[in-house]
Amino acid sequence: MQKKHVPYGSDVSAGSYACADCGHTYSNQSKTSLPPCPNYEPSTHSLNGWNILSGRGDAVRDPYPTK
Ligand SMILES: [Zn+2]
Repeated sequence: MQKKHVPYGSDVSAGSYACADCGHTYSNQSKTSLPPCPNYEPSTHSLNGWNILSGRGDAVRDPYPTK
């Protein structure tokens, strides 16, 4: 099972991430851990994590091949 949601501060490889709560996209070029969302507010952010959009190694850019 592929991990698609990672909490703040997780160790990750470079890639693109989207806030699980507000959808803010974040492109991680060199850091090895994820920061909190810049839009973070306790009232709007309950998941406190990022969804993996693409990343080195375990990303599936196009999981559904066109027919
Ligand atoms: Zn957010």
